[in-house]
Amino acid sequence: MILLNPGPVNLSDRVRNALLSPDLCHREVEFSQLQQTIREGLLQVYNLNPDNWAAVLLTGSGTAAMEAMITSLIPTNGKLLVIENGVYGERLSKIADIHGIEYLTLQHPWGAPIELKSLETCLDNHQDITHIAVVHHETTTGRLNNLSQLTPICQERNIHLLVDGVSSFGAEELDFESWHISACAATANKCLHGVPGTSFVILRRDVLPSVDTKKRTLYLDLGTYCQKQDQGSTPFTQSVQTFYALAEALAELQDAGGWQQRQQHYSELMGLVRQGLMAMGMEPLLPEGASSVVLNAFYLPQGLSYEKFHDQLKENGYVIYAGQGNLASSLFRVSTMGAITRTNIERFLTVVQDLL
Ligand SMILES: *Cc1c(COP(=O)(O)O)cnc(C)c1O
Repeated sequence: MILLNPGPVNLSDRVRNALLSPDLCHREVEFSQLQQTIREGLLQVYNLNPDNWAAVLLTGSGTAAMEAMITSLIPTNGKLLVIENGVYGERLSKIADIHGIEYLTLQHPWGAPIELKSLETCLDNHQDITHIAVVHHETTTGRLNNLSQLTPICQERNIHLLVDGVSSFGAEELDFESWHISACAATANKCLHGVPGTSFVILRRDVLPSVDTKKRTLYLDLGTYCQKQDQGSTPFTQSVQTFYALAEALAELQDAGGWQQRQQHYSELMGLVRQGLMAMGMEPLLPEGASSVVLNAFYLPQGLSYEKFHDQLKENGYVIYAGQGNLASSLFRVSTMGAITRTNIERFLTVVQDLL
């Protein structure tokens, strides 16, 4: 089965075989080494200096990393602005709401670009805002939000930028230093091609709250994890087998030429998908420049239901992904993430053609 959904992804043999590595106690030195290899490998993806940056590993899906980031890094007297233009931005707000974090939202229609003027007006009207949270690649629609445009706005006002990079980390540009990112949440099982079960937050070390700060969460507290992981330890049991897989996935990414090469590969595949589907009359939701290379959304052909389209493709070995919310009846999504080849995509297009 070829998975064209945005994670979990098709695994390479190399990553799948890593799951068969020896059983390990998370209190032994072998685990400590494995953890350290991953933490270094994650920073290397975007060339981050370990003196200033840390990768903090969690057991859980991408949402665990989002929740850890929001609950651990906003101090009690802080105030958050969440930029929403899809489901995942809205999820960031839900997290703030559930944990009683003071927050505001800047809402956009799903798929719309971030309105910088409205953002500036909002920040001018609420000068107590200390943090902005935003999704990099909004998987709801495939829009890649332009984070570099937020940099001067945040910098001018001394605001921390917290990024959901769950569906972009490893395959899109993330210029942590010059975009002034304070922290970024991401996961093993999307563009890094690992196994679901491990997620992480990359953070600037100086944004970690001091140890005596009152915590909002026990299990998801990044301060605790970072401190223990720096000591080669872990506060709780980690998902050891998925750690093996992530270490291998990171080595594979590096051997292949890093995120730039992966972006190039996804871009070639997505180019084929867009061209092929458009030639069959299926229009993309967003223009090419506005979309990620990771996922694009397309309008369903007239008279064809998503369920029927999905089921017929699945019978032929391909899983596509539904639109969310009120986009569910009009759209479908195709993701290029995972160990997928050009041949897989060419055959997908032939199958679609035959179905139509
Ligand atoms: C997949 C995804 C998440 C996390 O989803 P999980 O199901 O918890 O892994 C968060 N943000 C974005 C943008 C995503 O695409």
